[in-house]
Amino acid sequence: MTNISKMDRSKLRDIFTFNSLNIDEVHVGKDKTEKYLFKLSDGNYIESVVMNYENRISACLSTQVGCKFACRFCASGKGGFVRHLTVGEIVEQLYHIVCRSKRKVKNIVFMGIGEPLDNYDNLIDAIDILTHFKTFNIGKRKITVSTIGITDKILKLAATQLNVKLAVSLHAPTDALRRKIMSAASKYTVDSIIDACIKYRERTKKRVTIEYLLIDGVNDNDANAYKLAKLIKHSGFYVNLIPYNEIPNCSFKTSVRTIAFKNILRDYGITVEIRNSKGDDIEGACGQLRIGKIKDNGSKK
Ligand code: SF4
Repeated sequence: MTNISKMDRSKLRDIFTFNSLNIDEVHVGKDKTEKYLFKLSDGNYIESVVMNYENRISACLSTQVGCKFACRFCASGKGGFVRHLTVGEIVEQLYHIVCRSKRKVKNIVFMGIGEPLDNYDNLIDAIDILTHFKTFNIGKRKITVSTIGITDKILKLAATQLNVKLAVSLHAPTDALRRKIMSAASKYTVDSIIDACIKYRERTKKRVTIEYLLIDGVNDNDANAYKLAKLIKHSGFYVNLIPYNEIPNCSFKTSVRTIAFKNILRDYGITVEIRNSKGDDIEGACGQLRIGKIKDNGSKK
């Protein structure tokens, strides 16, 4: 920018950064799922995933480096929490994806590394930017925030009038079982989470999805399906059953009871789908590439 003084250029250099992250690796799966590994300016790594569907492209963005909740089934929490992503780092993931793919991304899911509602203020500012007509112009109803159920933040989000879709990773119908697979998250009780979701739906009129990861012999028997069905019947929630994507150093295995579990929910009149597993061949489970990088480098940086 030679049309401004050297002094101003120097000031601008001190205050602003053009790139807060750079593409380190891109893996493309057989199903065309693309997984981006980004290197941040402080040497940390995060991931984003681009899923190509017949009628849309969806990007899954990260909101934190690591995660403090350390759910047992999740690679993102391995290695603990490092820091929140800035607003710029959240938005810039999409910028790089769009620049590289030269395609319009219409859907955003905040389901990458980190718990979005734990980085609440930056998440809200990032949504404001992503939906602005002068940037990506993403429709608010095309955005889904996925949380392990931070109840006070769910209610805060409901009050913003952003009216984004909400997905809650419940994964167990009882507090006792939830404690076994996501102990830190279980400080929010199942009843309080369902209550917050009902309020979210009432206030926003937006769809609430209950995410349920099916883990072999852990949460996939008929009794759990009946408990979940009784918990949410008449709520109008949508259930997404997720086949578990196995990760290293975790004994959890993929369930073979997906259809049986689905049928029980359906018999209760609940709308239920099985999520299409995407990116299995490129370490599709969130956080796997980052963990590999940390191991290679011997540290987070
Ligand atoms: S599932 Fe979500 S909250 Fe749990 S460790 Fe992974 S990123 Fe964190």
